[in-house]
Amino acid sequence: MAGRSNVGKSSLINKMLNRRGVARVSATPGKTQQLNYFLINNEFHLVDLPGYGFAKVPIDVKRQWGKMVETYLGRRDNLRLVLQLVDIRHAPSKEDVEMYQYLAHYGRPHGIVVTKADKISRGQYQKHIKVIKETLKVLPNTPIILTSSETALGRDELWNLIEQHLIP
Ligand code: GDP
Repeated sequence: MAGRSNVGKSSLINKMLNRRGVARVSATPGKTQQLNYFLINNEFHLVDLPGYGFAKVPIDVKRQWGKMVETYLGRRDNLRLVLQLVDIRHAPSKEDVEMYQYLAHYGRPHGIVVTKADKISRGQYQKHIKVIKETLKVLPNTPIILTSSETALGRDELWNLIEQHLIP
């Protein structure tokens, strides 16, 4: 799972795992710099990539991040699915677009997870999703899952998508 700092990744992981305090919900955006692994049902790992796009991160840390993610996405043979998280309220940032280009370039199976759906009204969903799709230049047939960690919207859909990709 990848996404810019503060996108709601830790909250979503907590919601998905149905327990609090498993993934750290960070008070300081950009705090997590390492990969966090969660072993699920002794079957597979859910991997939390460090958040990107935090302005105060020193340049060498940014470089390290880029290298790590590039290595991870480029070379990890058993990586089944990459979920890229974007906040429903904002058009994707330059870093979001770069991240998506990585995924597309490496041909990684991926899905877009739209976070914090509860922050806008339902009537606005489609308009915001359209901006996200157009800004990222999302490839056709890419799953887009609308989620909220407040309401658990999208939780089952997300697990279903993950499950589909675990089957060899
Ligand atoms: P991370 O940096 O991507 O791990 O983001 P966090 O999970 O720490 O969330 C960043 C902030 O957004 C926190 O204040 C969360 O409480 C809030 N947040 C995360 N997900 C949601 C959501 O689905 N709905 C709402 N309303 N707030 C959320």
